[in-house]
Amino acid sequence: FNSLTGPLGEPPIKFLKTKALLLTSSKGLRIMSCERKFFGDVKFVKFSNNCAYSMQSAAREVSTSGVDPRIVGTVMAFSHWTFQRTDGFLMVVDLQGCICEDGTITTSLQKSNDAKAAAVKKTKTKKVLMTDPAIHCLDVTRYAPLNLGRSGMQAFFNGHQCGQLCRRLGLEEVSQVPSPERC
Ligand SMILES: [Zn+2]
Repeated sequence: FNSLTGPLGEPPIKFLKTKALLLTSSKGLRIMSCERKFFGDVKFVKFSNNCAYSMQSAAREVSTSGVDPRIVGTVMAFSHWTFQRTDGFLMVVDLQGCICEDGTITTSLQKSNDAKAAAVKKTKTKKVLMTDPAIHCLDVTRYAPLNLGRSGMQAFFNGHQCGQLCRRLGLEEVSQVPSPERC
């Protein structure tokens, strides 16, 4: 996606890297995930959820949030692109994260009270840094529990209006998500 939209002047969309932890103790096995967290003067934006909400469909929210409408369009086009790129098999939704307004996003390890462990990372390129997405997939045995399958995809497209970037990427408008055939 970024290789297609970068030359068009769009900000890249990145995701925080997540690590899986397996913790063993006398009480048994615990499985956890961890990632760096945002801190500092950054604006956290909820662009969409895994159901009917998208910032794009709440036009008033775009105008009052201070978020550049073009970035909202980029993020929504990303969800649409994931759908078309996988031939409608899955799509990435529930997009939320921080927009770098001033050229810097700062993250730290979650052990932020441990100064030595708080490896600070600064990124000077303007971008949208996402966390904790959900995936709707025709195979509903994957990506649970937020995977709403075809109905989740339909909910996205019910509230999605293709913008200029969708058209420049050659994305086809979707009014009815086809019924699954391969699961
Ligand atoms: Zn679109």
